[in-house]
Amino acid sequence: MLACCSNPSWTLPSFPALSLLHICTTTKEFNQIHTPFVKTGLIKQDHVSTKLFSLYLTLHSDNLDHARRLFDQIQEPKSFAWNSILKAYINNHRSHEALVLYHNCLFHGVSPNKFTLPIVIKGCGRLSASEEGRQVHGHVLKMGFGFDIHTQSSLVDMYSKCGEICFAKKVFDRMVERDLISWNSMIAAFAKCGEMERAHKLFKEMPRKDVFSWTTLINGYAKIGSMTIAKALFDEIPEKNVVSWNTIISGYLKYGQIDSAFHLFNCMPERSLVSWNLMISGLEHSGHPKKALEVFDEMLKVRVRPNAATIVSALSAVSELALLNKGKWIHSYMDRLGFQISAVLATSLIEMYSKCGSIEIALEVFRSLPERRVGHWTAIIIGLAMHGLANHALKLFKEMRSVGLRPHALTFLGVLNACSHAGMVHEGRLYFEVMSHEYGIIPTIQHYGCMVDMLSRSGHLEEAKDVIERMPLQANEVIWMTLLSGCRKHGNIEIGEYAAKCVVELDPNATGCYVLLSNIYAAAGRWDDMAKVRETMRWRGVRKDPGRSLIDHGGVIHEFIVGDRSHPQTEEIYLKLDEMHERLKSIGYEPDKTQVLLHIEDSEKEVALSYHSEKLAIAFGLINLERGMPIRIVKNLRVCPDCHSATKLLSITYGCDIIVRDNSRFHHFKNGSCSCMDYW
Ligand code: ZN
Ligand code: ZN
Repeated sequence: MLACCSNPSWTLPSFPALSLLHICTTTKEFNQIHTPFVKTGLIKQDHVSTKLFSLYLTLHSDNLDHARRLFDQIQEPKSFAWNSILKAYINNHRSHEALVLYHNCLFHGVSPNKFTLPIVIKGCGRLSASEEGRQVHGHVLKMGFGFDIHTQSSLVDMYSKCGEICFAKKVFDRMVERDLISWNSMIAAFAKCGEMERAHKLFKEMPRKDVFSWTTLINGYAKIGSMTIAKALFDEIPEKNVVSWNTIISGYLKYGQIDSAFHLFNCMPERSLVSWNLMISGLEHSGHPKKALEVFDEMLKVRVRPNAATIVSALSAVSELALLNKGKWIHSYMDRLGFQISAVLATSLIEMYSKCGSIEIALEVFRSLPERRVGHWTAIIIGLAMHGLANHALKLFKEMRSVGLRPHALTFLGVLNACSHAGMVHEGRLYFEVMSHEYGIIPTIQHYGCMVDMLSRSGHLEEAKDVIERMPLQANEVIWMTLLSGCRKHGNIEIGEYAAKCVVELDPNATGCYVLLSNIYAAAGRWDDMAKVRETMRWRGVRKDPGRSLIDHGGVIHEFIVGDRSHPQTEEIYLKLDEMHERLKSIGYEPDKTQVLLHIEDSEKEVALSYHSEKLAIAFGLINLERGMPIRIVKNLRVCPDCHSATKLLSITYGCDIIVRDNSRFHHFKNGSCSCMDYW
């Protein structure tokens, strides 16, 4: 077949090898046909090389680099070839290279034609490069294409994407004739800036609308939270498509209107992968991880194949609820599907395993990665810190630096957290310096928060207060609360009162603040002051945020609040609590009564303490889980000292591991001690 290529009498139009190009599917096959053209020198004829290049591009538009090599073989490419390669770059989302190529094109003295300019303008829009866009606009005017409808319409679109609403409007107003694209782009430009009145006015003026016009307007209203108008418009769309459904649903999700989102999701005539992903990530982001996982399960049931974005959201929901088994299942499901573990997915897996309490598997995932990026190191360092494994975290941090990777702000958050949880004050101060001096990272409020946490836990309360007052950022209530809890721990009334005053100034309804302050007074026996705080709380209508603990049993999540009696197994649970209490007493356990807010009789305090939510969850675990299985609990507040010492003893009397994730870290209770070494 290939021997015929050496026949010099062949001319291009009747050249059968070219027609073979249509059936070749791989680059290798293409090369087999291409090589003889090179060998015979035919390739030097521009009409041959151009033909080869454009045929290749139509067949393999995604193999851009090879197309580029073919393009480079054309000695003097004409506008047609330039346009094709520019378009290919932009369609492959490599607009930046397209702009460089466009400059080459001008440099070679090839004049852009009316097809070139809209392509390049599109590239500028993709990059939000208004500066370059204006330059190209200059070329448009210079070359006399200022009134070409297609060029004008792409200019409106480009300026709209760049957020240059005035320029967009100027071009739009000058258009003698307007196509649908220019109308839609102009509406999108207004909607993007939240100028919904102008967008709506234009929408009404449109001679003809398509579903995209409706969706753009709806999206604009959804963005500014006008869901009523958005919904009314949605109901009016003559022919809805999946994108318009997705737009309205995502609006509801964004504003936490879960029921409305669900209602529409259930009414959708057909759902795309985007629809499923929207629901799952929307629910996860708005604090409904349990619902997010339900939708994920439903998606698998109806056999829709998830993509990486779906898995990232699902793993995030799993982490939130600390559902280790579910997380493991998703991981093996990914393996079964032959999912490529991308860098982002690997980070999600490390985060999931550490947040679900299994730092060992998180480390396994981390070690198995062929290429470790900063995000992976950061995730594992944060995980180790959360588990109180400060030395290990710092060791990895050193290793990461030694292989030449540059830690970022989040990595340092992990490092500082590790120091804080382990009481390594000296190292913490050192790394805080390293962060700004060596890496030029400007500390955020979270970094300062870590420092304050570390200093106040370890009793350096004056220094902690100093850090807050000297930092170049506006202090928030969270950072003052951190200091306040340090004061509670170390019984410092003076700084505690000061910190509490600062919290209340920023947030008069800060529940935790009143609770901490009254606890400080209670611990010092200053009942009058405590009563005053409680009076203020009542007066302001502040209610104590109840402690909440979650425990997973057979894929069902059971939730307990303090003194909860709503669980179907309540009777059994309370009997178990009595038994736990007796067993603890028999080995000399004394409840730490300073933890109770109310000034009540000691015996009553004991009762209140033994009904803290994690104790209820432990009782549930002891009843329902198989012997020897670790009990895993997630708590919304920090574990109180009484629960902490009780849980240590329970782990020995019942001979089982108890793993509690509170709002700041993990406690792994085993054989009567805790992984935090009583420092939390
Ligand atoms: Zn407690
Ligand atoms: Zn602990």
